[in-house]
Amino acid sequence: MPRSAIVADPVFLKHQPGPYHPESPQRLKTLLDLAGEVVGGSAGFEFLPLRAAVQEELELGHGAGYIDLVRSTSEHNRFALDGDTITCRDSFGVALMAVGGFLQLLDAMAASDYRNGFTMVRPPGHHALRDRGMGFCLFNTVAIGARYLQKTHGARRVAIMDWDVHHGNGSQDAFYDDPSVLFLSTHQYPYYPGTGAADEVGSGKGEGYTVNVPLPAGCGDAEYLAVFREIIVPVIERYEPDWLLVSAGFDSHRDDPLAAMNVTERGFGVMANALLELARKHAGGKIAFLLEGGYDLSALRNSVATVLECMQSEDAAQWDGGGERIAARIRDVLQIREKYW
Ligand SMILES: [Zn+2]
Repeated sequence: MPRSAIVADPVFLKHQPGPYHPESPQRLKTLLDLAGEVVGGSAGFEFLPLRAAVQEELELGHGAGYIDLVRSTSEHNRFALDGDTITCRDSFGVALMAVGGFLQLLDAMAASDYRNGFTMVRPPGHHALRDRGMGFCLFNTVAIGARYLQKTHGARRVAIMDWDVHHGNGSQDAFYDDPSVLFLSTHQYPYYPGTGAADEVGSGKGEGYTVNVPLPAGCGDAEYLAVFREIIVPVIERYEPDWLLVSAGFDSHRDDPLAAMNVTERGFGVMANALLELARKHAGGKIAFLLEGGYDLSALRNSVATVLECMQSEDAAQWDGGGERIAARIRDVLQIREKYW
């Protein structure tokens, strides 16, 4: 039985935010080529057919009025949901497939057809708020996915790890007062969208279940791995999720044009291995990767290829030393965590 599923499809090339937009169809073209090679060359991977998300599923993450607004963009050649979130006539339909593709993967994993999977879709989702699209994102796919797991597959504790270089404000917002979903984010800070300070920890019953690790520009593998080793892995370990979802953006790569971090393919591989290991321990191996950002085409391809390799192995994460330059930041976050974990 193939162990891993890939969701990727030419339909995702049809969302066109404009010729000079960094969130270009070329990103998906690059990953489609990679996915074809991987599925053709390894018995461990299979393509999963797509479906469109339905209204009821979108409403797990969004208000009906906002969904109507996004639906209405299909009547315009070009529509701006905000300054950099631009749609064309096909965007709404493509966004339905992005959400539906992810739900399809979760269904297949719940049925034990696959242990893990990678959903290569666009537009991305983690900035989308309940009633507002922003930051290239229309619908919050990962947030809808977590709610869907609870509603359809009886998930009790879902952990979302967001390693995109931008803070996943939409995902944080969706579960801010909810302990049944643990949201963790590493991100460049201060930076777009402005949220994600270390003291944003959740509220009410959800207090402690939002974990933000804001990082200064210039962090590379050593810093990210120190954060994973000291904070991310121990917190997820204690939470004992029955599902692990990864908002996998690759814009913290050193070649990415939109941000100023220095992560390499190897760094993404170690982070992926650490999460895969946690999933094997706590979640029966169930871990779903979902593409968010990542705007340098060869960095994107090579980083995703590394994560795919990790999905087929049972290698433990190889922790490096280093990361001293952010030791004070790690201490700050751990001090906040002490209160909750
Ligand atoms: Zn991003």
